[in-house]
Amino acid sequence: MTDICKVLMIFPLFNAGSFWNYKEACDLTGARYPAAPLGLITVAALLPKEWDVRLVNRNTEDLSDEDFRWADMVMTGGMLPQRNDTQHIIDLCRASNKPVVVGGPDVTSSPALYGNANFQVLGEAEEIMGDFIAAWRRGAREGTFQAPMGKTDVTKSPLPRFDLLKLDQYLHVGVQFSRGCPFSCEFCDIIELYGRVPRTKTNAQVMAELDALYNLGYRGHVDFVDDNLIGNKKALKKFLPDLKRWQAERKFPFEFSTEASINLADDPDLLHSLSDTNFFAIFVGIESPDTDTLVMTQKKQNTRRSLQQSIETIHRAGIFVNAGFIVGFDSEKSSVAAGMIACIEDTAIPVCMVGLL
Ligand code: SF4
Repeated sequence: MTDICKVLMIFPLFNAGSFWNYKEACDLTGARYPAAPLGLITVAALLPKEWDVRLVNRNTEDLSDEDFRWADMVMTGGMLPQRNDTQHIIDLCRASNKPVVVGGPDVTSSPALYGNANFQVLGEAEEIMGDFIAAWRRGAREGTFQAPMGKTDVTKSPLPRFDLLKLDQYLHVGVQFSRGCPFSCEFCDIIELYGRVPRTKTNAQVMAELDALYNLGYRGHVDFVDDNLIGNKKALKKFLPDLKRWQAERKFPFEFSTEASINLADDPDLLHSLSDTNFFAIFVGIESPDTDTLVMTQKKQNTRRSLQQSIETIHRAGIFVNAGFIVGFDSEKSSVAAGMIACIEDTAIPVCMVGLL
């Protein structure tokens, strides 16, 4: 059997009503979609160098019959708001006899819903792509490969294949410093998927990723897609001075956003260090304005402070806050909508994700 393999990576459509579409922001800037598919381009970097990879993002471009004819294998997968289209892609592959591999967070959480795929790659891909590739080379055309949860050594994660992206199609491009979060919010799948001990890449590793983006000519908004950037504060505090130096040497070509827990507001040095490095926006999970609900769901870090004051502290550091809220907790009171509106207005949060539990 020849070792050349043509891999068609398909990033599935997000549901039309998804928060992640940011349609108006894309229309304003001429972007076709907010975020680039960092997961798939990381998987692409784990494939043998001699394999040929083509990436089609269904949120920004059409999938052609020619793409399908070209491919020996299809790889797809994503988050829950992409489930419908992921299943549709799998059905298309089965109908045209193309072996299809599915991976990513949603299939890892709900593998039974993706039983139609030939292969399932569950958990973090770095640990198990080698096993999948070896099986494929032996002639296997179905199987399940499962990584141990939350154990992957991210210092061995490869430099993502940014070269596969059409960079002008996106509002921002993602990089990742850490995976996992030390908190225990009981509704959160991040700690189930990536664990409660945040694992960080090396400083040099992230700089190499930024170098790659810079050398491809990319400038502007880079999103640190970490589950909670401040999950390992000690490592972050060692990283930020290097990142600031990298930025200063190139006249600050990138502006950064990320996701962090509200206790960021307790650490003025860290806040100012983020601001000095050109972080301009942070997504924070507020979840509910109701303290009883926050206590019941173990989101206690949000009850130990005034949310309004904490957000104001972050604003004063020059960073604006986007926030997530959840509707549907058991302890929720009928006043929850009014409470959320008041919280959003009091804190001047410009963009909110209000999702069903
Ligand atoms: S702080 Fe955020 S990422 Fe961490 S466990 Fe809670 S909801 Fe999940």
